[in-house]
Amino acid sequence: MAATQKELQQVDDEEPKPGSELTSQIVDELRQKPYNKLAAYLAAHDVIQRPFEPASYLSGDETVEATWNLDRPERAMALAVYIFEEGKQEKPNCKKCSKSIGPLPAPVCFVPSSDVLGGACTNCAYSGRRLGCSFVQEEEARRVEKERGKKPKIQSLTSVLLQHMSFSELEELQRLLRDALERRRNSGG
Ligand SMILES: [Zn+2]
Ligand SMILES: [Zn+2]
Repeated sequence: MAATQKELQQVDDEEPKPGSELTSQIVDELRQKPYNKLAAYLAAHDVIQRPFEPASYLSGDETVEATWNLDRPERAMALAVYIFEEGKQEKPNCKKCSKSIGPLPAPVCFVPSSDVLGGACTNCAYSGRRLGCSFVQEEEARRVEKERGKKPKIQSLTSVLLQHMSFSELEELQRLLRDALERRRNSGG
């Protein structure tokens, strides 16, 4: 099991580790959620691999703990994957986690080795921005590079993608397209 480095700083603490108590609390809450994908995932994964502790970040001069909730399917799923997915974090942080823009819930940029989150880290997945995770974008860039020279198959690419995207991911894509069009317009191209 991959214990986080942060736990090691708490050796003086006689109390049960807050991480494990909090984790069982989250797991209980996850099991109550009426989300189908999540229920199927929890049925197949019941060994805790990674205790959850909220990330801390700087707000002005103060260090504050990230807040989170499980009120949307993608949020609940992201935390379930963080807690239950086997594997360890081998890559450096994605761009979003390394910039630490805003309160990302988990202290570790964790990317499951399965494609349960489409290659995104759990923090980006939590924010409903799987497509914005730099790991997903780098993978897509590699794929496009490989396809170069072949005739672009934009139509099949988009229909496959769209089928697998959640509502909030479609919204995110809409935003990305709008921004790209705007930039294109502004550059006069
Ligand atoms: Zn990340
Ligand atoms: Zn990410």
